[in-house]
Amino acid sequence: MSTITNNATTGAAETAPDATARGVGAGRVTSPHGEDGRAPVLAVVVPCLNEEAVVASTAARLAEVLRRLAAAGKVDPASFVYFVDDGSRDATWVVVEGLHRADPSVKGLKLARNVGTQNALLAGLLSVRERADCVVTIDADLQQDERVIETFLEKFREGAQIVYGVRRSRRADSVVKRAASSFFYNLMWLMGARIIKHHSEYRLVSRKAIDAISEYREYNLFLRGIFVDIGYRSAVVQFDVRRRDTGRSKHTLGKLAALALDGITSFSVVPLRLVTAAGALIFLFSTAMTLFYLYEKLKGNTPPGWAGTVIPLYFLGGVQIMFLGLVGEYVGKIYKEVKARPRYVKDEELF
Ligand code: UDP
Ligand code: MG
Repeated sequence: MSTITNNATTGAAETAPDATARGVGAGRVTSPHGEDGRAPVLAVVVPCLNEEAVVASTAARLAEVLRRLAAAGKVDPASFVYFVDDGSRDATWVVVEGLHRADPSVKGLKLARNVGTQNALLAGLLSVRERADCVVTIDADLQQDERVIETFLEKFREGAQIVYGVRRSRRADSVVKRAASSFFYNLMWLMGARIIKHHSEYRLVSRKAIDAISEYREYNLFLRGIFVDIGYRSAVVQFDVRRRDTGRSKHTLGKLAALALDGITSFSVVPLRLVTAAGALIFLFSTAMTLFYLYEKLKGNTPPGWAGTVIPLYFLGGVQIMFLGLVGEYVGKIYKEVKARPRYVKDEELF
């Protein structure tokens, strides 16, 4: 077997006979699990929206984790932290620039505007994929325990392409938030959107898994669902959640609801089928009612009158509008997909 080096040249300059067998990826050609004895390069991608209060301490803590892992030979010393500034209106990017100057292993990407956590994460994943063997995504507030990354890496070494971080308890979240999460999770499961329970965006993915999601060209990207959808070998690692120390949560109930709705309508046609089924039931019901009133009339009884006409009218009107809205949800999706707009626009990069 040919030896694979860290600084392989691009395909065009390559003269080795096995050059074509190495695939299309320009830049480094690496083995995914460091089988050649080399530890994997790890990138930690951190989406940030108005996180000026926390980025510095988060960078320090993550850098510390990377230093420890590199010292133990578990990751390559070239591993790095990658902040994705998702259109912050505060000094987040200025802080990241300062951190990058002080320590080049802290890198960053500034998006032109806020595109939401999902697309910010995608921007980070796709931007680092040529430069890392595996990527961990974690929230800027480090509510997820960053020390578990070591366990993620063990699972990755054992062959998992995706390692899901799963919360052990949700005591750090408010009662309302916990109830909402659990409601949305169960709703999504019922609707056929298969996601991992108590898993948010804290996970490790291999370069191979990122290559796979880069083929998913949909506008409404729901990462939690996409990674499950790929079907690669995966593993689950439990961790404890902490309370957010500083800064405010950007995920309002509204955003959570939007995410759940996106998850359902991106991954399942069950709601559409429910519409059809409900439509059929309502049709049967109104047919029965019509027959009943017809029979009463033939018998000579006075028809019940006002209530009998007006109530179904209101009822059906309401039901129709509700279902029309649901269908509109899908139409809206098609509209966005057809436009095929870029999912994010890069502004600047520090690398
Ligand atoms: N975030 C983002 N874009 C957004 C909203 C949030 O990049 O539009 C980031 C945020 O900075 C944080 C992560 O996503 O790093 C999770 O957000 P947050 O901690 O506010 O959510 P929660 O933990 O309450 O769900
Ligand atoms: Mg948080």
